[in-house]
Amino acid sequence: MSDKGLWVKIDGIDMEYEAWLLIRLFFKDEYFKFYSENEYISGSVLFVQVRDEGSWQCRAEFYSYLEGRDVIQSISRGLIQPDHSSLKTVYESDINEPGGGILKSRKILAGSVIYDVLSRVTGKKLPYGALTGVRPVKLAMVCLKDGLDRKGTIDMLMKATGMSSEKAGLLCDVAGAEMPYIKLDARSIHLYIGIPFCNSRCLYCSFVSYPTEGFRSMIPDYIDALGKEIRFVGQMVKENDLAVRSVYIGGGTPTALDGYSLMRILELVNESFDLNDTEFTVEAGRPDTITQEKLQILKKNNINRISINPQTMNASTLMTIGRNHTPEDITGKFMMAREIGFSNINMDIIAGLPGEDEKMFRYTLEKIEEMAPDSLTVHTMAVKRASRLHENVGMFRLAPDSVTESMTEMAGISAKRMGMRPYYLYRQKNILANLENTGYAKPGYECIYNINTMEEYQSIIAMGAGAISKFISHDGKKIERTCNVKEVAQYIKRLDEMLERKKAFISR
Ligand code: SF4
Repeated sequence: MSDKGLWVKIDGIDMEYEAWLLIRLFFKDEYFKFYSENEYISGSVLFVQVRDEGSWQCRAEFYSYLEGRDVIQSISRGLIQPDHSSLKTVYESDINEPGGGILKSRKILAGSVIYDVLSRVTGKKLPYGALTGVRPVKLAMVCLKDGLDRKGTIDMLMKATGMSSEKAGLLCDVAGAEMPYIKLDARSIHLYIGIPFCNSRCLYCSFVSYPTEGFRSMIPDYIDALGKEIRFVGQMVKENDLAVRSVYIGGGTPTALDGYSLMRILELVNESFDLNDTEFTVEAGRPDTITQEKLQILKKNNINRISINPQTMNASTLMTIGRNHTPEDITGKFMMAREIGFSNINMDIIAGLPGEDEKMFRYTLEKIEEMAPDSLTVHTMAVKRASRLHENVGMFRLAPDSVTESMTEMAGISAKRMGMRPYYLYRQKNILANLENTGYAKPGYECIYNINTMEEYQSIIAMGAGAISKFISHDGKKIERTCNVKEVAQYIKRLDEMLERKKAFISR
């Protein structure tokens, strides 16, 4: 490999962005660049070609060092021997085999030859192989729906993407758990309502979230505008005879609102929609926002699932990540919620928080097990662009890949001990060790809203600043997104224009 950098040339398929996402898992951004016409090359070269000749072929070739202006032409004509190469050919008959639907994606196959070559060059293996997307469970779903069993699904996923057998097994288990809850049904919808306020901003936060302290004066106007949007959507839902299957109020932290504002929103949701037997979740994420009064407001307004999110049970880490509460607050508020009668409580934790090692993470899991929530969402630390962590990443010690991997494994074992199984999963950019976020739940406690955000079989109508709606076409093939403006002041000002856009989608 040359110390002068890597030139990447992709021929026959438009996938520079996807290739960039994958190659940066092996090399720093500044080490590689995409070749532009007639450029003088001096360094390593990765050449990727996709050809369609009845069957179609993907090949990737790696050259340790080449120099000149006509290097790419010489490679294309087969005049230079690569140092490493990988070739995959897919025939029509392969695609018609059970699970073969995933081979239709040329980008996945082109990614897998890139992955194959680069892992040989660098000696680095990635848990998800060539996959860089957010929703890998969809691939396992294709296999299971085609009638493949667990082993057949695992084999197919490994063959198509190069992922590890452990991750293929996890995807297969998640897809199996999701299966009873997903159904293409244009009449069924889910609602999301965003409350973009929090007591303080966590180190890693990239959500639309304003500290209540500095933005308190905006809350009444925000609640008025949000109320208008809720009423409007309620009317649309009735006129179009749609059925609400789940409601999720997140943010921010909805319980950061004062009791009166929280009650106004919840009463309005109940008045505007028919919520008989509907899953209704409110994020009560931070214990420092929870009070007996607010829990009672939630209970009175038919909320049947809440989420109390410790992230860690280590006091020092809570301080590092900017949370103004103690581990004891978490336990206390959890017990308070149980006493008030919440029988479906989720908890979120994060593997790989700054400064944490396996011992600290194990301690968090022990404390969670003592509380015994009904579901547990295990996030892997991700350094997101809009976060304070991204701006100051050099100041924090993030866990090495091997430690983060061991933490997520420990979490899976702990969830199993609590009688839970994995039921939803997604991945993010810049996630430590290139891992995943996994939701575990006791049977019957799976969150229908979470499953639908990932599997995209039913539309989600989202309300509030920065909220993204997702409309699924009748045949499930087309997904269209509309996003409300993020900034609270702009949201209040431009609400009518956003409502008009929503109307067009809802009443199609
Ligand atoms: S609690 Fe959630 S939304 Fe609020 S600041 Fe922390 S990460 Fe962001």
